[in-house]
Amino acid sequence: MPSLAEEVASRRTFAIISHPDAGKTTLTEKLLLYTGTIQSAGSVKGKSSAKHAVSDWMDIEKQRGISVTSSVLQFTYGGCCVNILDTPGHQDFSEDTYRTLMAADAAVMVIDGAKGVEAQTEKLFKVCALRGIPIFTFVNKLDREIRDPFELMDEIETVLGIGTYPMNWPIGCGRNFRGVFDRASRHVLAFEGDGHANATKKVGEIEAELGAPELDELIGEENHHALMDDIELLDGADHEFDLEAVRKGKLSPVFFGSALTNFGVEPFLKDFLRLAPAPSAHTDALTGEPVDPVDHPFSGFVFKIQANMDKNHRDRIAFLRICSGKFERGMDALHVQGGRKIKLATGTAMMADDRATVDEAYAGDIVGLFDPGMFSIGDTLCAPSARVQFAGIPTFAPEHFARVSQVDTMKRKQFVKGMEELAQEGAIQIFREIGAGMESVIVGVVGVLQFDVLEQRLKSEYHVGVRRQPLGYTDIRWIANEPGSIDVAELNLTRDTLRVEDMRGGKLLLFTSPWNVDWATEHNPGLRLSEFGNVT
Ligand code: GDP
Repeated sequence: MPSLAEEVASRRTFAIISHPDAGKTTLTEKLLLYTGTIQSAGSVKGKSSAKHAVSDWMDIEKQRGISVTSSVLQFTYGGCCVNILDTPGHQDFSEDTYRTLMAADAAVMVIDGAKGVEAQTEKLFKVCALRGIPIFTFVNKLDREIRDPFELMDEIETVLGIGTYPMNWPIGCGRNFRGVFDRASRHVLAFEGDGHANATKKVGEIEAELGAPELDELIGEENHHALMDDIELLDGADHEFDLEAVRKGKLSPVFFGSALTNFGVEPFLKDFLRLAPAPSAHTDALTGEPVDPVDHPFSGFVFKIQANMDKNHRDRIAFLRICSGKFERGMDALHVQGGRKIKLATGTAMMADDRATVDEAYAGDIVGLFDPGMFSIGDTLCAPSARVQFAGIPTFAPEHFARVSQVDTMKRKQFVKGMEELAQEGAIQIFREIGAGMESVIVGVVGVLQFDVLEQRLKSEYHVGVRRQPLGYTDIRWIANEPGSIDVAELNLTRDTLRVEDMRGGKLLLFTSPWNVDWATEHNPGLRLSEFGNVT
């Protein structure tokens, strides 16, 4: 039996982030295939896969064939217990995508080699950077024409502000893709195939040393020379590999490969598991002391709440990231924010991707707790004898706004209740114009699908029909100055900037363009604006 310390040390909990279509699903699937977790391609949840039946908890999911909330995939490989947190992209992109990153110890950023850093990559990266977690880069689609690799490195550094260290280097791309040079072993891994290899089959990998005459034959004389020049340049000019910097999220190890043809996935996984951190200490927000994942008894925090599949019950699943110790089904725990001792017992259904019930789990793991409506996002659960409290989850800047009002004015009470409860649950964010009432509410969301979820849920759970009027705001900022130190009404703002407050009374500004955000900071010395709310 492995000890608690061994269990924790073997955990690797990470999220894969990318802009839609960069290849996140394909890479995830290849990792699962490669590690023997699944047997055939097409079983990872995606736009066109058939796994919806498992997560079809709302009509909307069935209609659109997508999953509204994210889950966790767990597998063991090479002595590691790997937890991949699913971060939905596409239309189902929502605040849950961001919140999930709060539970990850590392992130893998998949970049389409032809496109480079795209909008959604940048947003997700910012959230990872806020936490300072290590970020690994996988430059994908080498079997297609990609941009110059030096240019891609440069773009990652300038746009995202993180150093890069190529772990391997591509030899050609597209039709001319011949493989990658592994910098640590100084070997070439050759790509065999025409770029259209069977997606489930691993293509051959042949090792040869740089400069060896047989490489001329393997990758072509011209490629060989170009590679030697590139490597010389890299070795001379590039950052030193610095694990400390990687762990702090200052330096991103970069891997080149092709998820579709399964090239470079194996070396990537091996290096990733070697370099990615096991769960480390989270900080107790009350004492400022680190909570050691092994020495401290059970603790964790809720990072996501998923409404239940059963309309007739208001039951929910609260996703808990375990930060320390061992979780056992049936154990007593203190719900810190509720100030109550609870039993994580019968009815506390634990959930992995397939809703399996788990009996035990360790620091680094994610468990789904049956929630009769008592948990809020950011809540701490811990062993009653060892009370800790983790910092809450920040509120992320919504990007789409609408004014929402009830159709039937007689249903005002239900409307207000529904809006408030759904906002508390974290399904949407609601704002009030300063000085206005709750007749109409400004709703902010990160992904537009959240609007549809809101309408459906108000209708089915609260029996309220609503009207939605889209608003043209594009940027929102929390006023980060000490409360009371600045008079919001007196701020010098462009005419189309709106002053609002959130449910906690936090003051915010809604802008119609990034330009207006700059205008506000320029014309109001001392004004501090933040893209994240409730950062503690
Ligand atoms: P996601 O939206 O990031 O999850 O991206 P997907 O994994 O669904 O991939 C988007 C599209 O790119 C799909 O058509 C994939 O088959 C394709 N794709 C993914 N990886 C590769 C790759 O390495 N090479 C090529 N040529 N296509 C790829």
